[in-house]
Order: sequence, then C-alpha cells, then structure tokens
Amino acid sequence: MPSPARLQALQAILQRPPTPVEPAAPLEEIWASDVFGLESMRSALPKGVFRSIQRSIREGRKLDASVSDVVAQAMKDWASARGALYYAHVFYPLTNLTAEKHDGFISPQSDGKAIAEFSGKLLVQGEPDGSSFPNGGLRTTFEARGYTAWDVTSPAWLMRTPNGVTLCIPTVFVSWTGEALDKKSPLLRSNAAMNKQAQRLLRLLGETEIAPVNSSCGAEQEYFLIDASYTALRPDLLLAGRTLFGAPPAKGQQFDDHYFGAIPERVQVFMQDVEAQLYRLGIPAKTRHNEVAPGQFEIAPYFEAANVATDHQQLTMTVLRSTAKKHGLTCLLHEKPFAGVNGSGKHVNWSIGNPTQGNLLDPGKTPHANLQFLIFCAAVIRGVHCFGPLLRAVIATASNDHRLGANEAPPAIISVYLGSQLEDVYNQIKSGHLEGSAEAALMSLGVDTLPELNKDPGDRNRTSPFAFTGNRFEFRAVGSGQSVAGPLVALNTILADSLQWIGDRLEEQLSTGAPLQEAAFAVLKRTMDEHGAVVFGGDGYSSEWHRKAVEERGLENLRTSADALPVLERPEIRDLFQRQGVLTPVELESRFEVYAEQYILAIEVEARLALRIARTQIYPVAMQSLERLSRSLRDQEAIGIQTDRGLAATIADLNSKLVQRSSALEEALAHPPHDTHGHLRHCSDTLMSLIGSLREAVDGLETLVDDDLWPLPTYQEMLFVR
Ligand code: ADP
Ligand code: MG
Repeated sequence: MPSPARLQALQAILQRPPTPVEPAAPLEEIWASDVFGLESMRSALPKGVFRSIQRSIREGRKLDASVSDVVAQAMKDWASARGALYYAHVFYPLTNLTAEKHDGFISPQSDGKAIAEFSGKLLVQGEPDGSSFPNGGLRTTFEARGYTAWDVTSPAWLMRTPNGVTLCIPTVFVSWTGEALDKKSPLLRSNAAMNKQAQRLLRLLGETEIAPVNSSCGAEQEYFLIDASYTALRPDLLLAGRTLFGAPPAKGQQFDDHYFGAIPERVQVFMQDVEAQLYRLGIPAKTRHNEVAPGQFEIAPYFEAANVATDHQQLTMTVLRSTAKKHGLTCLLHEKPFAGVNGSGKHVNWSIGNPTQGNLLDPGKTPHANLQFLIFCAAVIRGVHCFGPLLRAVIATASNDHRLGANEAPPAIISVYLGSQLEDVYNQIKSGHLEGSAEAALMSLGVDTLPELNKDPGDRNRTSPFAFTGNRFEFRAVGSGQSVAGPLVALNTILADSLQWIGDRLEEQLSTGAPLQEAAFAVLKRTMDEHGAVVFGGDGYSSEWHRKAVEERGLENLRTSADALPVLERPEIRDLFQRQGVLTPVELESRFEVYAEQYILAIEVEARLALRIARTQIYPVAMQSLERLSRSLRDQEAIGIQTDRGLAATIADLNSKLVQRSSALEEALAHPPHDTHGHLRHCSDTLMSLIGSLREAVDGLETLVDDDLWPLPTYQEMLFVR
C-alpha cells in the first residue's frame, strides 16, 4: 500500500475524466494562422514596402528604416484584429530559456485618452532591463541595459495563453556596446560567415550564379511525460528536472515494447493539442512516436532555415511544457530524468544549401555535383577534426553529462560516421586512386571521374555522435533541454573555417595552372590525409574505441562539462571565432563564464536538494520504519518467538550511511574552491560523487522501508501510470 500522499495521487489519476478530444481542425485552416509571415505581409503591405522587406529577409539585412513604421502599423493591425493587446520582444539569453519583455500597445494621449500604437521604432528596437540575465561580466550593473532588435529573417507570431494574446517579435539581444548577450546574434553571424566562404568555394569550383547559402536544421526532440500529481510530490523533479533518488522499477526497459508501440490515448490527445498549436505557429511538426524508454516520446519537424528552426525549436519546448500542464501532465526535457532508464537527446540534423546549387551535402547523381559534395563534405570532416573539442563544449551541461558516454547515447569523443560506402570513397581518395563506388550495382567510373553515390547510406550507426545520414549530418550528442543555437553556431563556424582553408588550397593549386578536377582532387586528398583520423564507423561504445580514439587517433575524450567547458578558453577556439567574425574574444570569454556558472549552479542546487530530501523526507520514515520493526521484534521475542534482526540491521546501517553521507555532502558544499576551474572540478568530481553515494543509501532504503511510509512516488508509479 503506497503512502497516503502517493495513494491520493494515484486515485486522482485513475479517476481523472478523459481529456475531451477536440476534433482536429483541417491543417489548411490553421496552418501558420498565428504567424505574420510573408503571405500576411504581402497582403497587408504596399508593394514597395513588401519588396524591401523581402530583400532584407533574403539577404539577412537590417530593415530599411523608412519602411519600419509601415510594417509596424500593419503588424499591429494584424495582431489587434486577432485579439492582441500586448507585444513582446522575444530573445534567447545565454541560458537555454526564452525571455520576453511584454509591453502594451497602449499610448496615453495628452487629452487623457489612450490609443493603441506601435511605431517602427518600437518594432525594430526594444530595451529590456537586461540586468537579470547572465552576461558573464559583459555588462556592469550601471550599464545594465541591453537592447533587442527585430531579426527580420524570422517572422512575428501570436502567443495565446489564458491571459490573452501577445504579439511576439523575435529579436537579437545585444549590449549598448554591441556585444552579443544572446544566442541568436552569433547564429546569424555564423551563417553569414559560412555563406561567405561557401560562395567563394563555389565560384572556385566554376559556379557563376550563386544564391546566398543558408544552413538548415531539423531537430528531433525527445521528452518524458509523467502525471503532474506525481511531480508535485517530487521536489527533485520540480526543482532539478530529474529524480535525485529512485530505485529501478521492477518492469524496466527490458520490455522493449515501447518504441513505436501504440501511443497511450491520453498522450495522443496531448500530442494532437501540441501539434495544432505548432501548426498555428507555422511549425512543421511531422513525426511523433514513442521512444525507447517507458513514458518517453519524440516529436520532429520538417527541417527549416537554421535561424527559423531555432526559434521554432524553442517554441516547441515551450508548447510541450505548457500543454502538458494543461493536460495534467509534466513534460520533462531533462537529459536523464530517471537513472537506469534511457535518457533524452535532441538530434540536430544540419545541412547547407541554396536555391541555385541545392543542398550542398547531397551527393547528387552527376559526377560534377559529386565533386562539389565531396569537397563540402570533406570540409565538414576537417572542421570536426580540428574543432571536435568545441563541439563537445557546446553540448556541455550538467544534465547532458549524465547521458554522454553512458553507453546509451553517443560517447563524449567526437568522431564522424560516414557510412561504409562514403567512408570507402574517402579511403580511395586517400590512396590516390578513386576507382568508383563500393556498391556492386554502381559501376566503376575510372580515375578522372567520380562515382555515383548512394543517397541512403543503408547502415545506421547509433553509437556515433556525429553521423552523415544521406544528405545531411546529424549531431546526436545534443541535449534534449538545450537550445540548438549553440551547436548550430559551432557547426556553421567550423564549416566556414574549413571552407576557407580548402578555398585557399584550391586557389593555390589552380594558380599553378592545374585543371579543376585535378586541383580539387589534390586538395581532397590532402584534407583527408591530414584529417581523416576523425572518421570512425565502428562501435562508439566499445572500450577499445575509447582507448584507440585517444591513443592512436589523437582525439580527445572530454568526459564531463568540467573537462569540456574550458575548451572555450583555448587560443585556437578564440582565434576561430574571431577570424570568422562570429564572437569576439570578450564575447567568448563571457560565454565561458556564464556556462560555467550555470553548470556549478545546477549541481549545487542538486546537492542542496538531495540533502534536504534525504534529511527531511527519507531519514524520518526510515526511523519510523525501524521503530515499527523493532517494536514488533521486541514483542515477538517477549513471547519467545525466535526472530531475525537482519532487516532491521540493514535499515539501521543504510540510515546511518545516509546521515554520514549527508554530512559529507554538506561539508563539501560549504567549502567550494574560489577559482572557476577548481569550482567546476569540485562539482563534477566531489559533489557529483557524494550525491551518488547518498543516493545509494536512499535507494537501498526505498526497497526496505514500509511502502506506506515512503513519501516519494516510485519509478514504477511515475513511468507506468497514465
Ligand atoms: P531519424 O529518426 O531517422 O533520425 P527523422 O525522420 O525522425 O529521422 O528526422 C530527421 C530530421 O532531419 C527531420 O527533422 C528532417 O526534416 C531533417 N532533415 C531532413 N533533411 C534535412 C536536411 N537536408 N537538412 C537538415 N535537416 C534535414
Ligand atoms: Mg535521428
């Protein structure tokens, strides 16, 4: 029998009336109906203004000041007609959250009346009080202000909450001195850097008509759903987003029937609600299915331009969370909410392309397109080889550390998986003789032409952190709760840098009078000779690889965030971002400070929470259970029954461990080192291991203490009751 609180939660769930299923509205009716996108603008704006804004969007340029008033007026009219009284500049601070500053359209007049007003100035630029957002020392408090500026390349939308409708304007957030305080500014800059180098390389490869090259992204989001009645009884879930305690369930993941199994009805209703909201926001949600673990699900959209995809991904997380609440559920976006149960990731699918050349990471059919592909793909390989540690650093969070290297998710060693066919082609390039594709069905095309490549690499390797998947790369080590902006900034920037490097080499070759094919082949060979070591097609989980990667391939194994975050301070990383004009040294430094601070904060919060729960919730019930047990043992012994004191002794032992380990944790918490690096290490090594050993004692008690006393909902209850 569960404790009264748990029983009450269980009853609430069982007696919960089914959420009414609203008939799904036809997609055509709701699609992007809450977005002030190109279509709305076309019909609302004078032709000249519309063309000017279209140009800004295509070229990613600032909005022409002369048209901003007209656009603002049209946007306000559009939003007001749909019930909006407020507008908000939405921006993405260095936390993984979304921030908004809400303002009314109201403008008091001198005659005492008020009118709804929204000028171009208000649209284009806002001034939130930035002092509450982490900035890593970029702003001292006396100049705490930053300003937000509309990113025209991403459309405005309406946010509907029970409190009303708000017009949301996606913006960048910068300090008065122009430093990026957010995740969007560097994303836009990284895309511009990549575009510049891609254009140059395409020209060298003989292209003459070249549209702006953009990066695109499709992010697969994994998440857990549990009943909110249970969350309410778990301070750890409420405050840390993961369970700090909990013994493994009797029915675990060994029943692999969840993946693609039938989606429970309550969850289906939830998903339908989420999708309807996403469609209204113009977010192309596409696939939904169960994930590997019980209670785990996934939602994936069609890919979009990286910048828009990033805004949409952020919105998707917001909608998932708020809709879960509405349905009496809690959506957990933490990477590892339940120990021993598969964690959640966010696969970031990424490619680059433009309207004239198409997807530059698509192998295509013709040898010519193949050459282009092989060069761009080699640039990615080189980028990952040179800057793998950076890719590790941009996914370094306290929560993602639980996942990376835990033999269920990609290892912390960043390598590239190409699939056997493509790997073979690059091996041939290395050997200096490109004979053709390994696939028997495709014939050998001779040395001076290039093989036809198969779009579907056929084999899938789930143990690779970074894999080529037919016409894009999939960065699988990204955390489920993370913004995709950081990973995309890193990918675009390392690609820009590699394209530049390859462009320089190609130019050199061509200047000696070598024909294009020959010159390109020479550069390809050199690239693979120098950087092929990062390509790995085997089992990323094996200890053999962990040894080999480091000892033979020279790759780094940055196990925890404490190892990975300091990468941001390395001179070669500082130079990379500066060279590509993506982040200044000061901006990069501030990022290290903010991310380190957040990592430390996350772990210290967990430590304090673990202490609090162990002492105030677990210790008392363990004592109570022991007291019951001893009383009953005494009573039995009094009438001459032989008893076994083993159970009581074990509980007493675990409880004294709980007490000792709590004290050790408290002691460690009270004396952190004063320097950032020492503090990071202290968290990753000392605090994490003390939290772990405290957990051992508590989880041991869970299996022994009377169930009617145990205060925390069990894994069994949370994962299987819906
Ligand atoms: P899987 O589960 O097999 O990894 P999914 O089909 O669930 O694949 O998700 C693949 C994701 O990759 C989708 O979001 C899809 O839109 C995206 N994607 C497909 N092509 C590209 C591309 N060229 N660039 C970026 N993302 C892409
Ligand atoms: Mg995937």
